[in-house]
Amino acid sequence: MEHFENDEQFQGLRVNKGTSEQPTVNPYLSNFKKFKRKVYTISEYIEGIRKGDITVLGQAVTLIESSKPEHQAIAQEVIEKCLPYTGDSIRIGITGVPGAGKSTSIDAFGMHILKQNNKLAVLAIDPSSELSKGSILGDKTRMERLSVERNAFIRPSPSAGSLGGVARKTRETIILCEAAGFNRIIVETVGVGQSETAVHSMVDFFLLIQLAGTGDELQGIKRGIMEMADGIVINKADGNNIEKARLAQSHFQNALHLFPLPESGWTPKVLTYSGYYEIGIDEVWNMIDEYIDFVKKNGYFDHRRNDQSRYWMYETINERLKNDFYNNAAVQKELKICEQQVLNSQISSFAAANKALEVFQKQEK
Ligand code: GDP
Repeated sequence: MEHFENDEQFQGLRVNKGTSEQPTVNPYLSNFKKFKRKVYTISEYIEGIRKGDITVLGQAVTLIESSKPEHQAIAQEVIEKCLPYTGDSIRIGITGVPGAGKSTSIDAFGMHILKQNNKLAVLAIDPSSELSKGSILGDKTRMERLSVERNAFIRPSPSAGSLGGVARKTRETIILCEAAGFNRIIVETVGVGQSETAVHSMVDFFLLIQLAGTGDELQGIKRGIMEMADGIVINKADGNNIEKARLAQSHFQNALHLFPLPESGWTPKVLTYSGYYEIGIDEVWNMIDEYIDFVKKNGYFDHRRNDQSRYWMYETINERLKNDFYNNAAVQKELKICEQQVLNSQISSFAAANKALEVFQKQEK
């Protein structure tokens, strides 16, 4: 007998004849190679983006993020052709320290935005990726409701390169998103350094998310970040935190009075809300709408966007010059020599810099 357990005496036990072992690798997997990423032509990119095709948009953003020159060439052409279809949007920057509740809030804000028949793109600039390749904002999907919405496009921070490079890529991604019909753009960043300046340089409204603390919460924030903010919102105003949040609100309001009136002519507001319990979301969004109305009427909206365009022109030039310089083989050789000479006190830092720059200039001729 093949299986003695099947004998009558062992009632209740039945062992069936097994099937043959399945291969560990899915035999159909090789077919998937055929489905490899489709290569689009420039006009297919434009057409797909203009139709709001998320797959094409996502691939175009991947080209923007790529460091390969051939990808960059296509990306630049696509961006150029998308430009006429952009600008008709509201761009909002959101910053706050880790744990302030940015993702929870953006999920809630986003659902509010979608309810008003808008299309929303959420992009990020994560400065932690520059040095550590780490990521404070995280790659996991943090906006659970938004991430399954058809009218929302969520893209994590580009990871390679300097902060300037990462920010430029996000700036270019905004263009493609707008051409794809996304009329609300949120750019998120972590409130820990230079990245706020980068975000500020590409948005119409800059929102700072704060938490109520022990009363000295103002000390931890750099003055520059507060000065940049068009609105400050104190999150987690729920449960027995409401009173503390109100107290923080008045602290911030008082502190803001000490700053000169911003160029926009708009006095930044301080509100309390709860992203998690969705209390006060309307008020936060009404404040942003009110601001946009205000600056569109007084001309500051266009003024700021023009300033930003100029800023990005020079940023792009600076970045290209720096990359060309440091990637130049002759310069790299010269820099090694110069560095040693400086360390050995043979020449001054300035003379060394001049020598390296001269090598570059000769190469350029
Ligand atoms: P991020 O690091 O700024 O993106 O912050 P998260 O959105 O991940 O939130 C950090 C923690 O705070 C999470 O445990 C959230 O559940 C919690 N949180 C976020 N918003 C609120 C809120 O409005 N009220 C309360 N009580 N907790 C919140």
